Amino acid sequence: MTDKLVFILNCGSSSLKFALIDTQTQQQILSGLADSLASDSPIITIKYQGNKHRVTLPAQAAHQQAIDTVVAFLQQHQLATHVVAVGHRVVHGGEAFTESVIITPQVLSQIEQVSQLAPLHNPANIIGIKAAQQAFNQLPQVAVFDTAFHQTIPAKAYLYPLPYSLYEEHGIRRYGFHGTSHFYVTQQASQLLGIERDQLNIISAHLGNGASVTAIKNGQSVDTSMGLTPLEGLVMGTRCGDIDPAISHFLIDQLGYQQAQVNQLLNKESGLLGLSQLSNDCRVLEEEAEQGHEGARLALDIFCYRLAKYIASYTVPLGQLDAVVFTGGIGENSDMIRENVLRQLSIFGFKVDHDKNQAARFGASGIITNNAGPQAIVIPTNEELVIAQDSIRLIQQEQ
Ligand code: AMP
Repeated sequence: MTDKLVFILNCGSSSLKFALIDTQTQQQILSGLADSLASDSPIITIKYQGNKHRVTLPAQAAHQQAIDTVVAFLQQHQLATHVVAVGHRVVHGGEAFTESVIITPQVLSQIEQVSQLAPLHNPANIIGIKAAQQAFNQLPQVAVFDTAFHQTIPAKAYLYPLPYSLYEEHGIRRYGFHGTSHFYVTQQASQLLGIERDQLNIISAHLGNGASVTAIKNGQSVDTSMGLTPLEGLVMGTRCGDIDPAISHFLIDQLGYQQAQVNQLLNKESGLLGLSQLSNDCRVLEEEAEQGHEGARLALDIFCYRLAKYIASYTVPLGQLDAVVFTGGIGENSDMIRENVLRQLSIFGFKVDHDKNQAARFGASGIITNNAGPQAIVIPTNEELVIAQDSIRLIQQEQ
């Protein structure tokens, strides 16, 4: 056991994901999820040494009790004394944060200030930070922002064609998300292709329940598909991605929807779920499409078509393309989606190697094409490792 363990926290409004990372070996020592917080039956699952430990919390227990329970587990297993920092995933850093930072009272109040841009996410992140400050009151706490990697995007890509005053006065612009994942795969692609990061041009597709695609030029994000919020861009599990903004008006004016119902529809009832009328889960849809389910087939077709169009359009800011990278649950595992997308991008010369494509699943990474020119690569993401490494780097700089 090294003394370089970082405790990682990712707080949602009623959930909390956590992990313990050894930054020297890059191994995940423990991980888990607290679910249904502040409900009648909150529960924590802790995975440690190949076992799953389930702890039922008292009814209405929330983040603080969940964190205290995990800390007690760390103490019981002689892990707590090796923890040197707590790293928090924070969804929105606005324009205030271009990189990870050690959390000071001033940083916390800046995170609070940008909460209006991410009302579903940042308040939960703040609850997590405050709870962890109580539980680990001797340890430095670090914030790693989903938006930070995208702060290099130029104004022509981040401004919406709306009155400029909305940007100046209210910060309405593209921020982008999944930055930690896009950054991680950039580092990995640089190693895999043997191209220095500052000379690497890739398009990174993070395809999970949430999905986004990013154009990365000379190692820096220059455009990305998510916007002011994570609703814009690709078709996602339950989010619609790009649609005509007038549809919201139509739903309200013509169909009598309430604002909250529109929000629910676009965020929770659309995307793969809405199109298929079956499931948001890509695995289920692939199985059902195979069995002839029309909705499943249509949903996957639209998902792939729109993704291929995004990838093609991101060659515009790049000029030259070294590789397309697939990551996230779907990108890392679905050889079918990858093949479908790359077939639609054959204008760029992609030739999928079927054996390599099938082998690159369940944590395996590698090049899946067999052609000169731009390659396609599968890289399992590891956002927790980036958060842990940033935390260690920042506390070492402080010493
Ligand atoms: P994430 O949000 O990154 O955990 O990704 C979740 C998505 O990955 C879900 O749509 C899953 O169905 C999808 N996924 C996970 N494993 C597979 C698989 N073997 N084949 C296809 N999709 C998968």
